Amino acid sequence: MFETLELKPADAILKLIGEHRDDTRPNKIDLGVGVYRDATGVTPILQTVKKAEQWLVDNQASKAYLGCAGDPVFCKAIQNLTFGEGSDQDGRITTLQTPGGSAALRVAAGLILRATPDTTMWVSDPTWNNHVPLLGGAGVKLQAYPYYDNERHCIRFDAMLAALRQAAAGDLVLLHGCCHNPTGMDLSVEQWQQLADLLAERDLIPFIDFAYHGFAVDLDADAYPVRLMFERFAEMIVASSCSKNFGLYRDRVGSLSIIGASAQSAAIVNSQAQNIVRTLYSMPPDHGGAVVARILNDEDLRATWLVELAAMRQRLQDMRKLLVAALGETAPEHDFSHIERANGMFCYLGVSAEQVAALKRGYGIYLVDSSRINVCGITQGNVGYLAESIAAVL
Ligand code: PLP
Repeated sequence: MFETLELKPADAILKLIGEHRDDTRPNKIDLGVGVYRDATGVTPILQTVKKAEQWLVDNQASKAYLGCAGDPVFCKAIQNLTFGEGSDQDGRITTLQTPGGSAALRVAAGLILRATPDTTMWVSDPTWNNHVPLLGGAGVKLQAYPYYDNERHCIRFDAMLAALRQAAAGDLVLLHGCCHNPTGMDLSVEQWQQLADLLAERDLIPFIDFAYHGFAVDLDADAYPVRLMFERFAEMIVASSCSKNFGLYRDRVGSLSIIGASAQSAAIVNSQAQNIVRTLYSMPPDHGGAVVARILNDEDLRATWLVELAAMRQRLQDMRKLLVAALGETAPEHDFSHIERANGMFCYLGVSAEQVAALKRGYGIYLVDSSRINVCGITQGNVGYLAESIAAVL
């Protein structure tokens, strides 16, 4: 039966990771990988995660099934973190724990297909490289709206609004809550308000992918778009991930929050979502969610987590500044200031695919063809070499 299948080419990023691993040059640099890394190149386990895990080892009483919606304590904690403490006054938010943000997106796709199978979801161009395969592969109709100007290195806000004016009432608009992946360019507060006005006027439904909460400015500022839309819309969807902000990548922790027009509607949506989960993966794994719930509900752990989160965010900002300053020295005739204006782990370096290939071939510097870089690959020790190499291929 399997003779009918053909070999799938490796994912571009996985391929890049392999090439970097096999490169024997001592000064090689990996700017491709999609996880946070500290100054020593390690993706650390947070101290608060270690403490919460120890607490679980000592205190967890059972490994019995949790149920399709996961742990209600985790769900409440994430709801408060995302929408604000005590935000669900009228029972319109329903939250399910999911195996990462990816599964939240997949369950949302299932719900959309059940509710309005012909509806179109508008996705930014460019967007996270798994959005289209994941959501489109599930069967959701997708259409792109312009987002990034590759020449001027800024958001094409007017073009984005113009495209969304063409959307039909009831269409969904997928937005990155903060730290847009891959560009790192986020809307300003004023732009979010203008966008909310347009969505409301056109009767469009916001769907926010919130994978980097806390990686841009701080927890409240980053949640501004979610809270703004929550205030203004009767229905919306939020897919959250704890992969980055808790460093729990492999433990698969995320959540799906759906806002219904009423508590009754939210309860119906929840029952449908649970039914979808039952047929997809039955229920989410418990461990990572239990760790997050413990951290968020313990005063000391929560305070320490905020410090750990701020340290990760600060490192991203520091490395951006460092690279822009170094490029100011090695390539003064080029403007790389957009790197500093971007949020989170990613942004476009802004070089051609040929220059990306030259960086790999000649200097052992690995990034994807689009020139998206993960700034976590930069350190005080390698930034000089990196800036010289970039200048050499320009
Ligand atoms: N959404 C975006 C924009 C992402 O960048 C990612 C991960 O890189 C995800 C969702 C999914 O994250 P995970 O499934 O690991 O929680």
